[in-house]
Amino acid sequence: MSILVVGSVALDSVETPFGKRERVLGGSATYFSTSASFFTDVNLVAVVGEDFPEEHTKFLSSRNIDLNGLSRVPGETFHWKGRYGYDLNEAQTLETHLNVFETFRPVIPAAYADAEYLILANIDPELQMEVLNQVKNPKVVACDTMNFWISSKPEALKEVIRKVDFLIINEGEARQLSGESNLIRAARSIIAMGVKNLIVKRGEYGVLMFNGHSLFAAPAYPLEEVFDPTGAGDTFAGGFMGYLANTGNLTDEGVRQAVIFGSVMASFNVEAFSLDRLKSLTYPEIEARYRTFKQMTHFEGVNEL
Ligand code: AMP
Repeated sequence: MSILVVGSVALDSVETPFGKRERVLGGSATYFSTSASFFTDVNLVAVVGEDFPEEHTKFLSSRNIDLNGLSRVPGETFHWKGRYGYDLNEAQTLETHLNVFETFRPVIPAAYADAEYLILANIDPELQMEVLNQVKNPKVVACDTMNFWISSKPEALKEVIRKVDFLIINEGEARQLSGESNLIRAARSIIAMGVKNLIVKRGEYGVLMFNGHSLFAAPAYPLEEVFDPTGAGDTFAGGFMGYLANTGNLTDEGVRQAVIFGSVMASFNVEAFSLDRLKSLTYPEIEARYRTFKQMTHFEGVNEL
């Protein structure tokens, strides 16, 4: 089953302790689509400006990402500039230039309106709501956001998250959204806002998933070399939703497997700048890392336990 993704396609300028890149391919929808494309077909709705290099559109098309919903309009592409210190878990936003996003109104092509799997990647929550209103009867909707929108449009965001099946945010965002510093309390408070399932990404510490009656904790894949965490969250969400759309298995077991596939994809993405590692990645490498993940987290019970 294909996935519909609406989010940002960007040119990013990123600085980490290991190097610096100017105006490289980025954006929430870009990372999401590329990651999900390893599992299923992806339909992308976003906007870019006239400055968006042709090589990037060619790359996305080469991944079987349908670009009929990608509009190119006069103006400059969304540009994000960020920096990471040695604590690679937290990005510091230096500049956000919405550019063509300022006037963007997502129009879902008629052929996508029946989408069963929908991801509202990180964009203005008012636009996320417009998308929700255009998709007829989605089976699974996931949503991401960031501190920028939690502080600038909290009410619009709360309206959106009540309507989705999975809210996928990082731990800083969970604390900011709930006003609680303890993560378990933060999760309880977000579930009380009407969120069905909450997935909290904790960078190198892994992922916690809450749904009001159970908790699933997965570590991150231990890596010796992390170059650029940009897009890790979106790459996680792409693997997670891609696997769900591929299998259609929405049982607790299926959703837990999807969390691990998401974690595997994110672990590859941070190994190089921009989408460089996803570009060279192969499906057998994904499966091999999934198997290692399973061995790494398995332990036997003791007596009756
Ligand atoms: P992540 O590291 O997964 O949280 O996502 C990083 C991506 O989010 C970058 O490639 C940015 O282009 C994109 N991004 C940053 N700020 C925003 C924003 N305010 N709205 C939409 N996308 C953004």
